[in-house]
Amino acid sequence: MITLAAAQEQVWSGVTRLDPREVSCEAAAGLVLAADVVASENVPPFANTAVDGFAVRSADVAAAPTTLRVIGTLAAGDGTEWHVDAGQALRIMTGAPMPTGADAVVMVEDCETVGDQVTVRRSVLSGTAVRPVADDVRAGEAVFANGTVLNAAGAGVLASINARTVRVYPRAKVALLSTGDELVTDGSPLVRGQIRESNLTMLELLIAAAECEVTNYGVIKDDEAVLEQTLRDAAARHDAIVTSGGVSMGDFDVVKAVLSRIAEMQWMQMAIKPAKPFAFGILTSGNRRVPIFGLPGNPVSSMISFELLARPALRKMMGHTTNLVRPSVRAVADQALRRRPDGKVHFMRVFGHFAADGRLHVRDGGPQGSHQLAATAAANALAVVPDGNGIGAGEEVDVMLLA
Ligand code: AMP
Ligand code: MG
Repeated sequence: MITLAAAQEQVWSGVTRLDPREVSCEAAAGLVLAADVVASENVPPFANTAVDGFAVRSADVAAAPTTLRVIGTLAAGDGTEWHVDAGQALRIMTGAPMPTGADAVVMVEDCETVGDQVTVRRSVLSGTAVRPVADDVRAGEAVFANGTVLNAAGAGVLASINARTVRVYPRAKVALLSTGDELVTDGSPLVRGQIRESNLTMLELLIAAAECEVTNYGVIKDDEAVLEQTLRDAAARHDAIVTSGGVSMGDFDVVKAVLSRIAEMQWMQMAIKPAKPFAFGILTSGNRRVPIFGLPGNPVSSMISFELLARPALRKMMGHTTNLVRPSVRAVADQALRRRPDGKVHFMRVFGHFAADGRLHVRDGGPQGSHQLAATAAANALAVVPDGNGIGAGEEVDVMLLA
């Protein structure tokens, strides 16, 4: 058995970043920028008012209350050029361009109008409620550095500077397949020995949530020729392949037989529970080297090895250099998390919530068998329980947050 850290190192060092490409701003959200983004426009493009009110000369209202003459009204989007002289005010709506002459805006709540006169009840400092040109982004400035993970607000910023496309590391195209002649996907009644397939549904969602594009090849029959053809086809059209099942020790099923023959594989046994077996390899397709992540078939093992090994590798391929694995926090175990010594680190499914003390408190998510996906579904975190007899109630434990 090898440590999880050693397995992670082997897997992550075996994958490389995808070639950057230019995509639309909308398509870039969730992806990593592969170049600095330099703003070509100022935001805002002109000085404007932050409130509905009256544009004034601050010197005029220094001794408020003061009455000024209203020279007109300016709505947002109205480009009319106004000039405010001493003793004057311009009624102005949020987002409208500042008139020349004025240096502040008094909010409407502090004013009283009668006919074309406005009484300003409060004095304001120069610059009050004025948003200067380029207050948000200045033309020529690098608004995002290479390597930034673009979020929704970031895509909004790109729109605000009229950057229509950006250079990113693309979504990894991932082929997903499962093997196992016992697996039923079509809803037909189960005969003895059969179970319903569950991993493909779960993994397709996990892969998509990792910002990848997934092709679900379904359950491939335990037939070497069919499996080889499917894997070669998948490698020709994808950046990575995720398989479920058939990687356990001493398992001579077709996945192992075919992959051992056509790919450079590492069959790993990790000192963790669940998810001890894992396979990583490279399938060469033309001049491309396509990584294969061979997850174990037990649904909980499948999910946990995806989280610990495959997802971080896919993130690395998509240009991430930070947060490859999910964040962990030191939490309080509200219940004992019992286990037996077996030389392995246990990843126990737990439910955590942030309590009034500001700390994450976790409790057992339920039965911990590697086939018991229902208990995993009730969990939102993995408690990392070191070898030994477990964690007592009230003791601390490291917890990886899944959501
Ligand atoms: P394997 O890794 O192929 O030896 O499978 C280990 C266990 O997981 C067996 O009980 C399989 O029936 C089960 N299993 C394998 N693949 C799936 C799947 N796609 N969905 C649900 N259970 C699976
Ligand atoms: Mg199997």
